[in-house]
Amino acid sequence: MAARQAPQGRAFSARIVAWQARHGRHDLPWQGTRDAYRIWVSEIMLQQTQVAAVIGYYARFLDRFPDVRALAAADLDHVMQSWSGLGYYSRARNLHRAAQTVMHVHGGKFPDSPEALAALPGIGRSTAAAIACFAYGRRAAILDGNVKRVLARQFGVAGYPGSGPVEARLWRLAEEQLPQKSVEGYTQGLMDLGATLCVRGVPACSRCPVADTCVALRTGRTASLPERKPARAIPHKQCVMPIIRDRSAVLLHKRAPTGIWGGLLCLPECADMAAARSFCEALGGDWAARRELAPVEHGFTHYRLTIRPLEVRLERKAGLVADTTGHWLMLGEAAAAALPAPVKKILVGIAAQSPAPAARTGPAARPRTGAKRRAG
Ligand code: SF4
Repeated sequence: MAARQAPQGRAFSARIVAWQARHGRHDLPWQGTRDAYRIWVSEIMLQQTQVAAVIGYYARFLDRFPDVRALAAADLDHVMQSWSGLGYYSRARNLHRAAQTVMHVHGGKFPDSPEALAALPGIGRSTAAAIACFAYGRRAAILDGNVKRVLARQFGVAGYPGSGPVEARLWRLAEEQLPQKSVEGYTQGLMDLGATLCVRGVPACSRCPVADTCVALRTGRTASLPERKPARAIPHKQCVMPIIRDRSAVLLHKRAPTGIWGGLLCLPECADMAAARSFCEALGGDWAARRELAPVEHGFTHYRLTIRPLEVRLERKAGLVADTTGHWLMLGEAAAAALPAPVKKILVGIAAQSPAPAARTGPAARPRTGAKRRAG
C-alpha cells in the first residue's frame, strides 16, 4: 500500500507531543540540558546502542572529557579506551575528529544549523537534526531507526526502509509531520514511542496515542512493517554430471579434499554439455545414445546448483581410458554409499528403475564400491 498523508497531519504531532509530556522519558542523563557537547555525545553513543547500555558509559565519558576542548585535546588512545566495550569504534574516532574540527573550525562552539552539524565527522542528517533540535530548538526532522519504524507503520509505508526510494519517502513524511511548535517534545516523543511502544516485534498498540490513525494496525500489518531487508540474491550455477554406466556400475570420481563436497566420491562434474561430450567420448561413452534425466536442484549457503544428469553407456568393453581417479560403484549400493545428497538422489532413482543386475562373471564384471579400476 502506498504511503498516505496522515488523516490529521497536525493532530498526529499534537498527540505525540501530549503523549510525550505525560508518558515519555524525562529523566535520561542527557535530557534537561542545552549543552550541545553533551547532547552530541549522547546521540553518537545511542547510535546502534540501547539506552540502558549507554547510561554508564555516558557518565564515565563526561567525567573524563567534560567538554569539547578536553575531548579535542585528548590522546585518541584514551578516547578509545573510554569507548571500549561500546562497540562500533569508528564512532569514537569520529567523535575525536569532530571535537578537533569544532575547536579549530568553529572556535570551540558547536554550529547550530543541521547542515553545519551534518558536515562534522560521524554526524548524519538525523543526528544533526536531533542535536540542532535539543541544543538550539531548531525545527528539523529526525529519522533514526525507531522513527522509521513508527512512520512506516503509522503511514503504511511498504518496502525496506534502507532502500533509497523508501527512505526518501520516509524523510518526506518526517518533514511533513514536523510541527511548527513544540519540536523538541515532538522529536523526543517520536523517539520514546519507537523505544517503548512501537517496538520491534509486537508493538503495544493498545497504549499508543496514534493508534486510531495507524495504517499498519488497521490493515493487520504491524508484524510485517517495516519490511525486512530483502535477502541477497543467491547466485545460480549449473553443471552437467555424466553418469557413465557399464551395466549396473557407474563411474564416480573422488573430489579434491577441499571445496564443495571435499573428499567425497561424486559423479564427474562438467561445466556444460560440450565439456560433458568431450569427457564421455574420451572414456568410450556412446554419446549418440545418451539420455538426459530430470535436473536436480541443490542449495548451498552461497549459491544454488542445478545438476543436469546425463546417462551415457560405455561403448567399448575395454572400459575406462586413461582415467586414474575413477571408482566404480554398483547402483544397488548407492543408497548406503557416502555420496553428496543430490548425487545419491540421482543414483538411487536410477537404481529404482533398473532391473536387478545380472550375475557378474568374467572380465566385464566391475569391482565393488571404492575399488579403483585403472584404464587399460
Ligand atoms: S498503533 Fe501500534 S503499530 Fe501503529 S504506531 Fe502505534 S504502536 Fe506503532
